[in-house]
Amino acid sequence: MAKYVYSFGGKTAEGRADDKNLLGGKGANLAEMCHLGIPVPAGFTITTEVCTLYYKNHRRYPKELYKQVDQALAKVEKIMGMRFGDPQNPLLVSVRSGARRSMPGMMETVLNVGLCSKTIPGMIAKTQNPRFVYDAYRRLIMMYSDVVMEKAAGIEPEEGQGIRKQLDDMLHQVKEQRGYKSDADLTSDELKDLCDKFKAKVKEVLGREFPDDAKEQLWGGIGAVFASWNGKRAVAYRRIEGIPDEWGTAVNVQAMVFGNMGDTSATGVAFTRNPANGDNHFYGEWLVNAQGEDVVAGIRTPNPLNEATKSEQNRHLPSLETAMPQVYRELEAIRLKLERHYRDMQDIEFTIQEGRLWMLQCRVGKRTGTAALNMAMDMVQERLITKSEAVMRVAPSQLDELLHPIVDPAAEKNAVVLAKGLPAGPGGASGQIVFTANDAVAWAKEGKKVILVREETNPEDVEGMRAAVGILTSRGGMTSHAALVARGWGKCCIVGAGAISVDAGRKVMKVGGRELREGDEVTLNGTKGYVYQGRLSMIDATENPRFLEFMKYVDQFRRLRVRTNADTPEDAAKARSFGAEGIGLFRTEHMFYGKNSEEPLFRLRKMIISHNQSERRAALDELFPYVKKDIKATLEVMDGLPVTIRLLDPPLHEFVPKRQDERERLARALNITPEELNKRAESLHESNPMMGHRGVRLGITYPEITEMQVRAIFEAAAELVKEGKRVLPEIMIPVVSTKAELDDQKILVDRIYSEVCAKYGLKKIDYLYGTMIEIPRAALTAGKIAETAEFFSYGTNDLTQMGFGFSRDDIGGFVPAYVEKKILPADPFNILDQEGIGELVEIGIRRGRTTRPKLKVGICGEHGGEPSSVEFCHRVGMDYVSCSPFRVPIARLAAAQAAIRETEAKAPTKKIVAKKKSDKKVAPKKGGKTKARGGKKRR
Ligand code: PEP
Ligand code: MG
Repeated sequence: MAKYVYSFGGKTAEGRADDKNLLGGKGANLAEMCHLGIPVPAGFTITTEVCTLYYKNHRRYPKELYKQVDQALAKVEKIMGMRFGDPQNPLLVSVRSGARRSMPGMMETVLNVGLCSKTIPGMIAKTQNPRFVYDAYRRLIMMYSDVVMEKAAGIEPEEGQGIRKQLDDMLHQVKEQRGYKSDADLTSDELKDLCDKFKAKVKEVLGREFPDDAKEQLWGGIGAVFASWNGKRAVAYRRIEGIPDEWGTAVNVQAMVFGNMGDTSATGVAFTRNPANGDNHFYGEWLVNAQGEDVVAGIRTPNPLNEATKSEQNRHLPSLETAMPQVYRELEAIRLKLERHYRDMQDIEFTIQEGRLWMLQCRVGKRTGTAALNMAMDMVQERLITKSEAVMRVAPSQLDELLHPIVDPAAEKNAVVLAKGLPAGPGGASGQIVFTANDAVAWAKEGKKVILVREETNPEDVEGMRAAVGILTSRGGMTSHAALVARGWGKCCIVGAGAISVDAGRKVMKVGGRELREGDEVTLNGTKGYVYQGRLSMIDATENPRFLEFMKYVDQFRRLRVRTNADTPEDAAKARSFGAEGIGLFRTEHMFYGKNSEEPLFRLRKMIISHNQSERRAALDELFPYVKKDIKATLEVMDGLPVTIRLLDPPLHEFVPKRQDERERLARALNITPEELNKRAESLHESNPMMGHRGVRLGITYPEITEMQVRAIFEAAAELVKEGKRVLPEIMIPVVSTKAELDDQKILVDRIYSEVCAKYGLKKIDYLYGTMIEIPRAALTAGKIAETAEFFSYGTNDLTQMGFGFSRDDIGGFVPAYVEKKILPADPFNILDQEGIGELVEIGIRRGRTTRPKLKVGICGEHGGEPSSVEFCHRVGMDYVSCSPFRVPIARLAAAQAAIRETEAKAPTKKIVAKKKSDKKVAPKKGGKTKARGGKKRR
């Protein structure tokens, strides 16, 4: 019989930490903690397989499940010495979700399940604490009616009309009437009365009685957790995080322990190290006399765990270390046990019931990029993990976060702090404030940078949080929803800035006598928790010596070389500072855009509008010194590292001036009438320029264009050689589809090479002659092409375009819908389509190397800096990847991780040791400003 339910508790368990796929992260780790002898309330886990079956069978459970749940429940009863639904000695349980990967706050939880008219008197008799029992009951009604009776039933109330909000308002009303500050002030009679009113309200709003049977509540809770797997916010989160729908969630049913049984009870969450900066300090928050989600919900400002980690915001509050020293010591011992066992930072949840400590959860804690890096480096020093493990501990996307800007300390010094909060997500961000998640999404779509300001965030805000560059909340602690999510994404975030009062209805926030409205600018320092009015300048964060040290580790493991796509000497220098080992793509035409491009552009335009060879040659002669100068400067910066110079691949008609005065100037220079110029410009028009007169086709029709460029390359190289410098140019022909095209251009290259050698009196100039593989035909005929080409560089932008038949510039109209409908797993221009385009890449490499075993192969399409694509490039045996300068560190890390994974797969138990540094690698240097991400869109 299939096993759907796994028990845990009493120092033993049926599952283990390795069973995450089946038991979810929470279930697997609860089991593991039992094996470690850590006190865990007994319970059982319903597997993720049941979730999948449940959806497959039109929301019906497998038959055997009911019996297995009964048996597991009986075991819990035995261990805990209580019975579920028993009038005298009732057991209460919690019902929680638990997917393979944690999805904080995205799915549902119900606590205190089992409280009903039959069990309430027994609970009161047992605890001698009616106040506690009615408090637990009112919480059950609030959660259950919201989660099970409303959300899981598919009821979508109007904004602010949800049952939970309505019940919350009733609670507030009672508090206000009585003049109470906190929930804890309510008496037992008041709570009892409130519970009756709650149940009447539930009936009135939802049209159903609140269930008064323990078993009915239990199955309602289980069903609601499964239903929440397909709830709106869980689905949205999965899309963002790339979590497959098929994984499903497990359900954990666990005996309740109570943190709200008075002043010797408490509840808390903690991290075994600081998740924001990685400090090796036990770090967390707790609340006395509180239950379950109170700490994360951000309703009360939580207390610090210990004295060492107090912050400006919670300095006045008592720490657990001083309030309950014995329990704190026990918790500290568990912290060390867990870290030693898991060899990683853990995120834990605990409850103290009348002085007794219980662990409710442990999992690998989410952390910022800075924290990931610092922890990994510390743990190597502590000999807790190996260098290769350290390299695997930082996700390439987290490295991206480390390269993100921080608020310029100089600017910050002179700025007045508007408010202070908890530093929940690192780095700096400035933008316009918005007050709803929907506005954040809409404004971001218009290209605006927004800071999402909320009183507190809830899981419904997740898309807005994603769209914003920063998040600011007036309530909540370091473990509030906003903080957890932002930290997971490495997004700048400040929570609990109590001085701010947010009026989301009017879209204003008030702070220190000022009123800021929607659209006003603020700056956040998420590392310190400071909010400033207006826009402060940002600086690069790469000077961190630990980052440099970490990148040294990284380079010891990778096999793939990492080059950069750079078109100017400045970009090349910057990329070298990030560790680039060459230029994989120098797009010559980029010298006609941007800074200092006016003069060369004018000459290029003359060349384009020329009508015959002599006009064209004259224009090319004028262009020559500009091209040569740029290439020379770039070769010089790269100091002997390979520089792949791609010959012109310009969209000709786009370079024709649009403005009348410019057209007239050009006509004068060419000695023709403006009408004649218009006519010539018109003749350049192409219906489909992407497949038109571009790349090698230009060089074939106008060989003088190739000649000029090749001469510029060889002369630049020759002059540098004469100056005693090292150079390694690689001439790359674009948009090739046949060997014959490459041969045609090679004749020119050979001739000019001899001429330049003769001119400079050189016996040889080292260089390579190769091609881009960016047309499917070229990949398929790579065996022949490699007879001439000494290297291949995969232009996966065009290869994707031509392979899919998707115009690079027109995908906005349909690719998002393809991704939404799961016709494609991702935008193939962003993440390489390994199945199809990847197959072309593999075929090309295989056939090319059959002809030329030492053929050098790289990639220069945008995928060269995307981690999963880099892993693919490693797997198919490329020599290097090339990407934009500040993606270079990301590609280096992705390449190292690919190599480590490969070794692990081959010898899973063997320790992976860093390679001895043999061949020359460029060590990353300090500095270098970051700039907007992504490749340059050319057409
Ligand atoms: C490519 O096609 O992948 C490439 C690098 O060239 P471009 O983007 O300039 O067409
Ligand atoms: Mg291309």
